[in-house]
Amino acid sequence: MIVAVDGPAAAGKGTLARRLAQALGLPYMDTGLLYRAVGRRVLDAGADPRDAAVALRAAETLRAEDLHRADLRGPIADMAASAVAAMPAVRAALLDFQRRFGRAQGAVMDGRDIGTVIFPDAEAKLFVTASAEVRATRRHRELQARGVAADYDQVLAEIRDRDAQDVNRPVAPLKPAPDAMLLDTSALDADAAFAAAMALLAAREQAGRA
Ligand code: C5P
Repeated sequence: MIVAVDGPAAAGKGTLARRLAQALGLPYMDTGLLYRAVGRRVLDAGADPRDAAVALRAAETLRAEDLHRADLRGPIADMAASAVAAMPAVRAALLDFQRRFGRAQGAVMDGRDIGTVIFPDAEAKLFVTASAEVRATRRHRELQARGVAADYDQVLAEIRDRDAQDVNRPVAPLKPAPDAMLLDTSALDADAAFAAAMALLAAREQAGRA
């Protein structure tokens, strides 16, 4: 079984997908980490994250340990990930890895294009959203909790920039699959979002049986 959990930055996908994976007994993959790691490697090489040749080489030579780096979060990594993720060749280089992971034992995978491109036949697709302001508030709190000085307005501006970049790119743009179930977490905490997602999955399964 593949459960696709797509949506914009800081909508609560990661927390939700991890909990769903645990509840369903499935492996979990945060596919954003792949793009973050590629972006980081481009920065390591001293290149601009929009440099397609360096980004492709970084994607093709990505190693498992790159996904465990401590510097994959934060505004610079965010924008570098979004820049390399707009390149068709980078996306193509990471496609097989994601499909192999999901096909091995099923999976809950979170990202932007799991339900539209990676697994268009996924058994269940959730598109998780929240207003940009709510997402910025969450990200701002997260940064503060990690001891990173952050300005709310700047966090909001960065979230809007990244949304625009992810939604407007020609390849695998962020958008709900036609058969995705929408979950707006603006007014939900993590427990309520998990309960709502489980209810959507149960209703879908029941409808499939009827
Ligand atoms: O989910 P996360 O915020 O970690 O993703 C970082 C960036 O990677 C996103 O802004 C997006 O551009 C890209 N991404 C993507 N497709 C995915 C996962 C992430 O394009 N499946």
